[in-house]
Amino acid sequence: MKRAYEGRRRTVLTSLAASVIVIGGIGLAATPASAAPQCSNERFLTITQLEQGCDFHGKALRISGDGDFAIPAPGEAVLGDAATVDGSPDVPEVMVANLGDEGVAVRVGDQWTGSVAARAKAEAMLHKNAARRSSGAGSTVTGGVSNPSTKCSSTAYALTYGVWGAGGVGWYYNQYGAIVVGDTAFKSAAAAWTGSISACGYYVNSSAKQTYIGTTTANANITSSATCAARDSKNVVAWGALPANYLTYTCWWVDSWGDNLESDQKYATGMAWSSSPTCYSGYDLQGVATHEWGHTYGLTHVDGSTGQVMKGGSGTCEVSQRTLGHGDMLGIDWLY
Ligand SMILES: [Zn+2]
Repeated sequence: MKRAYEGRRRTVLTSLAASVIVIGGIGLAATPASAAPQCSNERFLTITQLEQGCDFHGKALRISGDGDFAIPAPGEAVLGDAATVDGSPDVPEVMVANLGDEGVAVRVGDQWTGSVAARAKAEAMLHKNAARRSSGAGSTVTGGVSNPSTKCSSTAYALTYGVWGAGGVGWYYNQYGAIVVGDTAFKSAAAAWTGSISACGYYVNSSAKQTYIGTTTANANITSSATCAARDSKNVVAWGALPANYLTYTCWWVDSWGDNLESDQKYATGMAWSSSPTCYSGYDLQGVATHEWGHTYGLTHVDGSTGQVMKGGSGTCEVSQRTLGHGDMLGIDWLY
């Protein structure tokens, strides 16, 4: 591997990468649902029902404490991640992967549940993704000094599952219910991870691509209980209801090769937001949006002490999140 993974997934991903040769031959092609018995008449499945190997077609999955996730199509996985206000409990990343005949695998934080066969395949999907990344890194970050505890010196980053292909992500904005007028903050946040990035005395050239397509009336496929609904093949940034202390929720859908299919972002209408760099109260929309775009591009949370954009929580008026930290730059450079 060209670089070591940093952050909380470091140990997991490097140990997975070590076994990639062993499991690399497992076929990941989606297979249609078999003639398994119906799970139940309930609209929602529990993980226990899921582990019994029944037909889950068209059902949602009830994850204790995390609400109901729509089960993605065979061969697809969905991941969801929250940004919460500083001081509230950390919300773990959730992944629901549908492996067709092998069933559905679920990961909450680092904890796997679901069908045993599906878990093996889902982990193989992650290995394949990590292996591809390690051979596809972009330019090299240069300059600076190393010190582990500030935004400009911490090298911490963590990668999730899924990257965009060469065409990048084309996205829409739904302004219904907007607390901040205009799309400037979202456009700036999307662009913060692309092209020539200069911050903290460092420089990277990121090949991540995004295109703003226009406004839409389509919703983000994210529920008011902060879970991922069925996707509609449209990448949408939108506003709406979320649970208390949630600033945002982002969902993204990935195929079995690790290519992103869709990403939606939802910003909480129940929170106070600010759009001014001279922020007096509320949460800085552009700063928080820069974090959400980090998820959309393929990064996940690092510890709050690192000071990176990809730390899990945000305080009020945290306008410093508008620009990337050293670790954030290393992460996007690894991916694109
Ligand atoms: Zn996040």
